[in-house]
Amino acid sequence: MTVPIAIIGTGIAGLSAAQALTEAGHVVQLFDKSRGSGGRMSSKRSDAGALDLGAQYFTARDRRFVTEVQRWQANGWVAEWTPQLYTYHGGQLNLSPDEQTRWVGTPRMSAITRGLLGDLEVQFACRITEVYRGEEHWHLQDAEGFTHGPFGHVVIATPAPQATALLASAPKLAGAAAGVKMDPTWAVALAFETPLDTPMEGCFVQDSPLDWLARNRSKPGRDNTLDTWVLHATSAWSRQHIDLSKEAVIEQLHGAFAELLHDAMPAPTFSLAHRWLYARPATSHEWGVLADADLGLYVCGDWCLSGRVEGAWLSGQEAARRLHAHLQ
Ligand SMILES: Cc1cc2nc3c(=O)[nH]c(=O)nc-3n(C[C@H](O)[C@H](O)[C@H](O)COP(=O)(O)OP(=O)(O)OC[C@H]3O[C@@H](n4cnc5c(N)ncnc54)[C@H](O)[C@@H]3O)c2cc1C
Repeated sequence: MTVPIAIIGTGIAGLSAAQALTEAGHVVQLFDKSRGSGGRMSSKRSDAGALDLGAQYFTARDRRFVTEVQRWQANGWVAEWTPQLYTYHGGQLNLSPDEQTRWVGTPRMSAITRGLLGDLEVQFACRITEVYRGEEHWHLQDAEGFTHGPFGHVVIATPAPQATALLASAPKLAGAAAGVKMDPTWAVALAFETPLDTPMEGCFVQDSPLDWLARNRSKPGRDNTLDTWVLHATSAWSRQHIDLSKEAVIEQLHGAFAELLHDAMPAPTFSLAHRWLYARPATSHEWGVLADADLGLYVCGDWCLSGRVEGAWLSGQEAARRLHAHLQ
C-alpha cells in the first residue's frame, strides 16, 4: 500500500510542494481550513465580482520561478498587469517610474492555485489541530475531532503562527516558527457606480493609514461593470486598529482614500473589509524550508524565504526536493 504524504495548506507554497511531489511520483493528500484554495492569493466572490483582497500582483526573479510563471501564462492562468502606477508622498501624487513586470492571476488571483490543484485529492473546510506520530506513521486530527491518516510524511504549508501550533512533535522546528512575527493587514474594497475621475490604477502610499491602492478593472480579465478599488492599510495602522469594526475600518480607509485624491469622493455602492491577521512576515529568512527529515516533517511558506508569492513557491519546491531526496 502506498502511504500518502499529507500537505496542510493549499496556498501557493502547499500547492508548489504538491505539484513537485506528484511529478516525482508521490501521492499527496491536501487539507485546508478554508472553503477553497489560494490562502493569501485567494479571491473573494462578492456582489462587485471577484476581488483579490490579499496578494495584488507578484514579480518573478528566480530563474525557476520565471519558467514556472511562463507555464502559467501558457495555461492562461496569469497575465501581465501594466497599471498606471503612482506614488503618494507628502500629500503629493506622482507618476511612478517603476517599470518592473507584474503578474496577476486571470480572471482572478485564485486562478493560479485552482489550476495547480487540478484533480489532486483535497479536503477543504478541514482545520487541522494536531499532527502526531503513531508507531510508524503520521496522523492528523481536525477541529471536528476526525482523524486522518496514516501518512508517511507531513508538509505543513501555513503561516508561521499556525505552523507553530502543529509542531508539538518537533520542538526545534516549533521554536524557529514561533520566532517569526507576522504583521496584520486590513483590506477594504470599495465599488463606485460612476468611475472615479483619476487615471490612477495602482498607488504606493506613504504618510497615510493606507499603504496600497489598486483599481480592479485595470487588471486583465476582470469584470468592469463597477469601478472597484482595493485598499490596504499599513501594518502599523492595521495593528493599532486590529479590533475595530469592519464598518469603522471602511469609513476610515475610505476617508484616507478621499484625502489622497483631494476629492469629495462619492459614497461607494458596495464595500467590504477583510482582516488578514497574518498578512506578511515582519522579517525575511533564508531557511528555504524547516525540516526534520528523520521524523518526516517539513514546514514551508513565504516566511521561510522572501515573504512574497515567489518566496512561498520556492519554499514549497524546496520542501518537496528535500523530502524526495531523503527517500532516494
Ligand atoms: C494583504 C496582502 C497583500 C500582499 N501583497 C503581495 C504582493 O503584492 N506581492 C507578493 O508577492 N505577495 C504579496 N502578499 C504575500 C503573499 O500573498 C504570500 O507571500 C503568499 O500568498 C503566501 O503563500 P503561502 O502558501 O506561504 O501561505 P498562505 O497563502 O497563507 O496559505 C496557507 C494556507 O493554509 C491554510 N491553513 C492555515 N492553517 C491551517 C490549519 N490549521 N489547517 C488547515 N489549513 C490551514 C490557510 O487556509 C491557507 O489556505 C500579500 C499578502 C497579503 C495578506
